[in-house]
Amino acid sequence: MEQFPIFLNLDNFPCAVVGGGDVAYRKACALLKAKAQLTIIAPDICQELAELIAEQNIEHIAQVWTPNLIADMRLVVAATDDETVNTKIYEYCEAHKILINAVDQPAICRYTTPSIVDRSPILIAISSAGMSPVLARRIRAMIETALPQSIAEIAEYAGSIRGKIKQAFGSINERRLFWEKFFTSSIMSRFKQMSEQDKTQLVDTLINGAETQGEVWLVGAGPGDPELLTIKALQKMQLADVVVYDRLVSSSILDLARKDADFICVGKQKSLHLKQQEEINDLLVRLAKEGKKVCRLKGGDPFIFGRGGEELETLVEAHIPFQVIPAVTAAAGCASYAGIPLTHRDYARKVVFVTGQNSIAGEEPDWASLVQPYQTLVIYMGVGKSAQVQQGLIAAGMQSDMPVAIVENGTTTQQKVHTCLLSELTDLHQSKKIGSPALLIIGHVVKLQQQLNWFDTQDENSTPAFKNYLIK
Ligand code: SAH
Repeated sequence: MEQFPIFLNLDNFPCAVVGGGDVAYRKACALLKAKAQLTIIAPDICQELAELIAEQNIEHIAQVWTPNLIADMRLVVAATDDETVNTKIYEYCEAHKILINAVDQPAICRYTTPSIVDRSPILIAISSAGMSPVLARRIRAMIETALPQSIAEIAEYAGSIRGKIKQAFGSINERRLFWEKFFTSSIMSRFKQMSEQDKTQLVDTLINGAETQGEVWLVGAGPGDPELLTIKALQKMQLADVVVYDRLVSSSILDLARKDADFICVGKQKSLHLKQQEEINDLLVRLAKEGKKVCRLKGGDPFIFGRGGEELETLVEAHIPFQVIPAVTAAAGCASYAGIPLTHRDYARKVVFVTGQNSIAGEEPDWASLVQPYQTLVIYMGVGKSAQVQQGLIAAGMQSDMPVAIVENGTTTQQKVHTCLLSELTDLHQSKKIGSPALLIIGHVVKLQQQLNWFDTQDENSTPAFKNYLIK
């Protein structure tokens, strides 16, 4: 360990910032946030610093730095733009046992300030020991996204019931067990929605050792690229006791879920679709009734051809609390990564999402209603029915040279984009082995694909998700 981390209490702690520019201003703000007893030493100060000094009634010594000005300080920030001056300040502070930080001069710092995630009272500090402040900031962003928004309020609430918990449990072990249950309960995801009464009820249930009620989160996992997950989806995945996932959800996405959660694959087989859906609905209810937090993870968006509505109906009937987390749907993800804008002022003012899979076997889509000018048609679950799509649309009046794209494994590193004319769709489907899942995009916008596919398709170094394989 290069440095020793501590959190410093700045109450009644005389601190000085030497310097009057932007950097000095930022350092002063940070110190004031922690209630430092602050003095600014600088003959000239910037506008922002002047306003801060006036607003917060801070002592300002409008002089060039001299050692006597910091003799009584316990912490000093050297923020002048003169490295020799900063070095002199450092030497003085070291000789007089004053904590010193010289901005951007790690060699003359007794302490450094970390990158922080501030959800006070929770405070997370990240340091790279001066090796890479930018990396430390990236890590901070990652932590920010992983923390539930209400973490500060949850911490405060936990503080407010400490006395009660101490009374309820005599031993440290019992108390620790309580807190473990508390911080994995629904409080973490529902704090904002809960009334004071709900919270007290939950705490009492945990004290009595009874099972708390579970809940189900219907979470959209997006089309494939894990980086397209929403922050909320990621948070739910990391809080879940059980992850119930579809075949469409890739292992790289599942890897981001809580490691010790149970994972249940409910990949559907086409022939057993209906029966299996009922079984899934029952499974969700059973798990929630056992008190589990269930993340029902679905490919794309849960409400777009995801049967999310049906699962919710069962949950409502069983009085199970639920939340729905929307996501990037396959049409949006595949189109973007393939370089096909779904709408365009000149080519498409409407976009229609349809399914090629009808709930009534043998029933054909209403092709005529799908043939419209200035429209892009996106067909989910339709590639296997390429022959019917081609025949149906042409018979309903769509021009046979309408451009079509099949996007296979869209947004993943295995993405492939095949383009052809509508009249060639059946042949293309028969001649190429098209992997699953795949999406059909039909419309003039497909013409823009080559134009907007700005990555060199042969270049191994181009961004993988954009690496298209044009097969025409
Ligand atoms: N709820 C999902 C759709 C589920 S239906 C969503 O919003 O995206 C399943 C169909 O979605 C597949 O048959 C395929 O047509 C399409 N699909 C989903 N992910 C895809 C991907 N990564 N690439 C291409 N098509 C995809």
